[in-house]
Amino acid sequence: MRSAIVLGAGMVGVGTALHLQQRGWSVILVDRGAPGRETSYGNAGIIQSEAVEPYAMPRDWASLFAIATGRSNDVHYEVGALPRHLGALLRYWWHSAPRRHESAARAYASLIAHAAPEHAGLIEEAGAADLVRRGGFRVLHRAARAMDAGVAEAERLRARYGVRSRVLSPAELGAAEPALKATGAGAIHWEDPWSVRDPGALVAAYAALFTRRGGTLRQGEADSLAPSGRGWRVATADGPVEAEAAVVALGPWSPDLLRRFGYRVAMVRKRGYHRHWRSRRTLALPLLDAQNGTVLAPMAAGLRITTGAELSRPEAAIDPVQLARAEAAARDLVDLDGPRENAPWSGTRPCMPDLLPVIGAAPRHPGLWFHFGHGHQGFTLGPASGRLLAEAMSGETPFVPAAPFSPGRR
Ligand SMILES: Cc1cc2nc3c(=O)[nH]c(=O)nc-3n(C[C@H](O)[C@H](O)[C@H](O)COP(=O)(O)OP(=O)(O)OC[C@H]3O[C@@H](n4cnc5c(N)ncnc54)[C@H](O)[C@@H]3O)c2cc1C
Repeated sequence: MRSAIVLGAGMVGVGTALHLQQRGWSVILVDRGAPGRETSYGNAGIIQSEAVEPYAMPRDWASLFAIATGRSNDVHYEVGALPRHLGALLRYWWHSAPRRHESAARAYASLIAHAAPEHAGLIEEAGAADLVRRGGFRVLHRAARAMDAGVAEAERLRARYGVRSRVLSPAELGAAEPALKATGAGAIHWEDPWSVRDPGALVAAYAALFTRRGGTLRQGEADSLAPSGRGWRVATADGPVEAEAAVVALGPWSPDLLRRFGYRVAMVRKRGYHRHWRSRRTLALPLLDAQNGTVLAPMAAGLRITTGAELSRPEAAIDPVQLARAEAAARDLVDLDGPRENAPWSGTRPCMPDLLPVIGAAPRHPGLWFHFGHGHQGFTLGPASGRLLAEAMSGETPFVPAAPFSPGRR
């Protein structure tokens, strides 16, 4: 029986472990904490079937000026951190040019098309249906001009990829979401996405399915990864484990481990924040306030308010500015009683400068596999890209073209 150690029990690592297991592999899933407690816990919980194109860097002067002058809450930056991000940001800029973005989008869309169906099977088998709403999510535009642009964009995505959406007038939005105090210029309702009441709990349910099927979950430190007689070895709380293959699925921490093996992985690390709020009346579905880059996501723990991207040093302390602005913007829309936590959660979107996740064999280490860099949509993509990696490891024909995601692409 073929064997693998999967390092990292976020949505990406758990999705990989399940797909390898399904193909007859003996799998040990290793994480230093419990499954689904890091980035895969703190996100907005949307399984984004509409996100057929990867998130590009804004290239128009108005957006860049708004970011540079701190007028946009979508992106916030720590000036001292910019030199650290510069190389990756320049590449991100280059790959965000329309022609290159279009080619990345073709690959991305092929994988996104399978994201919800891959989740569907797992949700059912894991008995997690009560965590999932299948009603889509909405994007609110505050100004008429932004709404017109949103409608045009929705039409473009429908024509090109068949993404389904409905345009809601302010009155229709108000009727759908009675808790809203303001409805701006209306909203786009993306109809196909699903949303999750507790993203970390969904990952935990998938991990429980993995162990129920006979998989092994161990607490351990990925930094102990080393070649061994059988292939690869990792130290865990229950002693060392060995397998012929190892998968690096450490989300934003992946480049740190790979540096030890001589790989310099450029990653755009976009920090995000959230905090839960008590509110007497909550929303039925998540709502993105497009102008403020903030999502109001109804969760089991309260109304989760999330932020856009912060470019900071990995070790930088929490900067309350962006979340405070997001919370103030949310107060225009809904009544908020009080925060559930004193300190916000923060985590990092692991974004690759060329917009695509890295899925495939390590270029110079036989038996080592890369699986990270899912950026803004790792919660959505984990099971589908887990399938793609498991197929590559098993020597199967990939269900979507795999070359654009290869670690050796350039
Ligand atoms: C604010 C915010 C909102 C978001 N909203 C959405 C959304 O609505 N939909 C969506 O699809 N995506 C969303 N995302 C993105 C998504 O959350 C990530 O892309 C995804 O969670 C990445 O999953 P992962 O498994 O790669 O990483 P993680 O979930 O971070 O998992 C990595 C795992 O590796 C473990 N680990 C790290 N280092 C070590 C080590 N040395 N030893 C052992 N274990 C280690 C960690 O403990 C962790 O469990 C959002 C992100 C943010 C920040």
